[in-house]
Amino acid sequence: MNPELLHRDTWVEIHLDKIENNVKELRKYLPPSTKLMAAVKADAYGHGDLQVSKIALRAGAEGLAVSILREALFLRRNGIEAPILVLTPILPSDVNLAIENDLSVTIFQSSWLKEMRKHKKDPRPLKVHIKIDTGLGRLGLRNIQELEEILPMLSTEDIFIEGMYTHFATANREDDSFFRRQFQLFSEVMEWAKDKGLEIQAYHCSNTAATLKYPECSLDIVRVGVGMFGIYPSKEIKRDTPISLETALSFHSRILHIKKVKKGSVVGYDTAYEAQEDEWIATIPVGYADGWYRCFQGFYLLVEGKKAPIVGKICMDQLMIKLPKKIPVGTQVTLIGKQQGEEITLEDLASHIESVPQEIPSMIGYRVPRVYYYNGKPVEVLTERIWQGEKCLV
Ligand SMILES: *Cc1c(COP(=O)(O)O)cnc(C)c1O
Repeated sequence: MNPELLHRDTWVEIHLDKIENNVKELRKYLPPSTKLMAAVKADAYGHGDLQVSKIALRAGAEGLAVSILREALFLRRNGIEAPILVLTPILPSDVNLAIENDLSVTIFQSSWLKEMRKHKKDPRPLKVHIKIDTGLGRLGLRNIQELEEILPMLSTEDIFIEGMYTHFATANREDDSFFRRQFQLFSEVMEWAKDKGLEIQAYHCSNTAATLKYPECSLDIVRVGVGMFGIYPSKEIKRDTPISLETALSFHSRILHIKKVKKGSVVGYDTAYEAQEDEWIATIPVGYADGWYRCFQGFYLLVEGKKAPIVGKICMDQLMIKLPKKIPVGTQVTLIGKQQGEEITLEDLASHIESVPQEIPSMIGYRVPRVYYYNGKPVEVLTERIWQGEKCLV
């Protein structure tokens, strides 16, 4: 990639054709009547929400899911017309904004509904999805009794019940007992809603893991995030699912400086590393302010297709690596992705920090430019996401 355009020697590459293929693969795997809702929250797990939304919709996704209202407004402002569900409750005072922008919101609290009704001026009904907590313990109504209590507040003209949904805690786990318990509870809730005559357009529960592992539980919509980005929810799911997903994102930089240090010299803050012999130490312009946090200490990058260990403490804007020989300034290094025969996968990095693969791209900051490719050709470069100011009225 041309550094003159990026003004920086550190960048992320995102291959949109891979995301497109992943969505098509997932689509093929679904029953034809099940809709695919692409989860593009948190800037599409660091992949760029606008770019991912466009390609996912083109590849057959019927709707989008974001976490917060601002993410939905950003997509609307940039021309996205597909249905968007906001997964976390919005402020009741934002109800008119949600209606004006044709957004669907998540509800489950009677206090929220009461408050929302004080603010609602737009005469059109608010599109809502009722959230049921079947075991994740995060958000939602927790049992039929809680549903009974809120029922009178749901049968009014000012809301349109577009959906009812739940979210799984363990769908990627081999032991399916907790998943079965959650699905059973959700099935009972669906029965209850039908008995009560609640008209609900769509029921949904599956994330990527459940979509791949329990296709019989797909219901009307699946909400797919990680699969779109080529991340399999577990090794077993990768082994057992006849579907081919490819990672879309890689992360690169270049050697900024290289020097030979004598045995016993120290490198980095707090003199945390001491050279065991005369060693070649290179400095790479990536640090924790780019999202490469200190948790990656002790891990490595790829240089000339070989692992180069990170030494010392990761700084705010740089880190140091040990190399077996002098390698020229400007040589490309890879933090995520393939180099010759070697590869650093999101799974490798996740296991180093005891997390899940999707945490890794979500960490990469807005200071790192994103370069988009389609079929091997660069098509778009994002160099920053601008903070927008709004005047304080106090
Ligand atoms: C993020 C999210 C999803 C998508 O999950 P993946 O595991 O990335 O497929 C689905 N539903 C809800 C409620 C979510 O928050």
